[in-house]
Amino acid sequence: MAQPYDDNNIFAKILRGEIPCNKVYEDDHVLAFHDINPQTPTHVLVIPKGRYVSSDDFFNEADEAEIAAFFRAVGKISRDLGVVDRGYRILANAGADAHQEVPHFHLHIFAGTDLGRMIK
Ligand code: C5P
Repeated sequence: MAQPYDDNNIFAKILRGEIPCNKVYEDDHVLAFHDINPQTPTHVLVIPKGRYVSSDDFFNEADEAEIAAFFRAVGKISRDLGVVDRGYRILANAGADAHQEVPHFHLHIFAGTDLGRMIK
């Protein structure tokens, strides 16, 4: 792990219920909620409940069951949001060059408009 996990990061506080979120999905491994500052009409964040700073940590340190549960949940959430037919984008910022703000791994789901070829 390049950086130790900070239990005071904002998503850790959301997972502990210390800060509210607009929840769209939760199971034993995963929480998803609407981004507080949406960049597109639909902008949802999906996070594992485990303590992973970045996608690199998650991909390399999570066990198979956790990884499977996470991506199954991303698929279910996307379908439940109704964005699959028209199209959507999933994205993870990792590290400094990608300007990852919150040091708890998360995937963004962007949808609800023409996303062009690139989006931050
Ligand atoms: O990928 P990155 O770390 O830059 O994205 C963090 C995201 O977390 C931002 O889109 C920000 O709006 C969102 N956020 C949130 N709720 C908070 C704090 C940040 O949805 N309380």
